[in-house]
Amino acid sequence: MHRILSVAFLLCAAIGLRAYAADQDQAKVVKINDSIYMVPTTGNVYMVTTPEGNVIIDTAASDLAAEAKTLLAAQSHEPVKYIILTHGHADHIGGIPLWKQSGIQIIAQRNYVEFVNYVTRLEGFFAPRNAAAFNRPPKEVGPWAGNYGAKIDATILFDKEYTFTLGGVEFQLLSTPGETPDHLTAWIPAYKAAFIGDNYAGIGIPEPMSFPNIYAIRGTKPRWALDWINSIDKVLALKPEVVLNGHGEPIFGNQEITRRLTRYRDAIQYVHDSVVKGMNSGKDVFTLMQEIRLPPSFNLSESFGKVSWSVRGIYDGYAGWFDMNPSTMYELPPSSVYPDLVKAAGGPEPVVRLALEKLEAGKPVEALHLTDVVLAYDQKNSAALDARLKALNYLRERSENYVEAGWLEYGITKTKEKLASQ
Ligand SMILES: [Zn+2]
Repeated sequence: MHRILSVAFLLCAAIGLRAYAADQDQAKVVKINDSIYMVPTTGNVYMVTTPEGNVIIDTAASDLAAEAKTLLAAQSHEPVKYIILTHGHADHIGGIPLWKQSGIQIIAQRNYVEFVNYVTRLEGFFAPRNAAAFNRPPKEVGPWAGNYGAKIDATILFDKEYTFTLGGVEFQLLSTPGETPDHLTAWIPAYKAAFIGDNYAGIGIPEPMSFPNIYAIRGTKPRWALDWINSIDKVLALKPEVVLNGHGEPIFGNQEITRRLTRYRDAIQYVHDSVVKGMNSGKDVFTLMQEIRLPPSFNLSESFGKVSWSVRGIYDGYAGWFDMNPSTMYELPPSSVYPDLVKAAGGPEPVVRLALEKLEAGKPVEALHLTDVVLAYDQKNSAALDARLKALNYLRERSENYVEAGWLEYGITKTKEKLASQ
C-alpha cells in the first residue's frame, strides 16, 4: 500500500498535480480533536499540539516512519518538544532517529532500558524468527553488541508515574506493564484521552476483537497476565472518553471503552486463573492447552492471540521447563531416538503410512509428529516430506489465526524447498 501510494505520488507530480496528491495524503491524518492527530500505520503515530510545541506519541516502524512524520509536520509547524514511547517494540520506536533533535526529551518507562537491551542482546536469535514470523528477509545482524549494548534514546525514565505540563496541557504517564514490561499509558486529563500502546492488542484486525498473545510464539519473555490485568484496571480508573491504541482505530465513549476493556481484562483473568487452578491440581501443560477454552460469552476471537499458546506461556512463565519426568532432565531430547524407532518399525514406509492414516482421520498434528520421526532418520525422505506438506496444508486451510497461518506457510515453503532440492 505504502509503495502504491509512493508511485501514485510520483506520477501526480510528473503531471503537475503535486498539491492535489499532498491533499490526498493529508486525508490519511485522523483528527481526534482540535489538538490530537493520528497517522494510522504500523504502529500508529500520534501528535498532540499545545501552544508551546508538540508532543509525539510513538514513531512507527522504521520503514513507515518518514511518511508519518511528513504527514504530521504538515499539520503543525510548531517544534516538537517531547516524544513519548508507549513501549520498546520496533514498530513503535523505529522513527526515533527522524524526530530526534537536541532539546527534544524522549520519555519511556524505566523497564524500556532492559527491554531494548534484551532485544539487542538476542538480535541473532530473533532475526530469523522475526523474518519467518513477518514473512520478510532476515535483518542483517552485526557482531554481538554485548548484554547491555542497545542504544538508549530515552532521556527521561520513570518508575511509576511522570507528569509534565506543556503549553498548559498536563500529560500524566503511568507505568502499565502488559504486552511488554515497559508499557506506559499517556493520559491527558484535559481531553480524557488515554494512549495505551498495545495493551489492547489485536485491535485493527477484523472483528470480533481477538484474545491477546500472552505469549508470542516468535519468542518473548513471559508477559505477566496479572500485571496486564492491573494495567487495564488502571486505565479504566481514569474514566477515559477516548482510548488511542498502538494499532487500529481509537475507541470513543467511556461506556464503550469500559465494555471492551473489561471484557478483555476478564478474558485474560479467566485464562490465567484456569492455568493456575490446573497447575495446582497437578495437570501438565499439554492437558491444560487442550482443556482451557474461552467461554463464548466473551465474544473474543483467536485471530491474533491463541488461548492455547497463552496457557503454555503462563504455565512456563511460572514454572519453567521441567515436567517431573526424569527422562526430560537430560540433554537428549525424545527426537534423539526417532531414527531408532524408524529402524524398529522396519524402515520409513510404515511410519509414513501411519502419518497419512492419521491425516485421513483428521489428526494433522499427529501426522506432523510422525513425519518428524521419519525425517530424523532421513531428512530427504520424499514420502515423508509429501505427507508433511499435506498435513501443513490441511492445518493452513483451517487456521483462523493469522500468526499460526504465517508459521504454517513458513513450514510449507521450507518443505517445498526440500522437495525441490531432491
Ligand atoms: Zn505494536
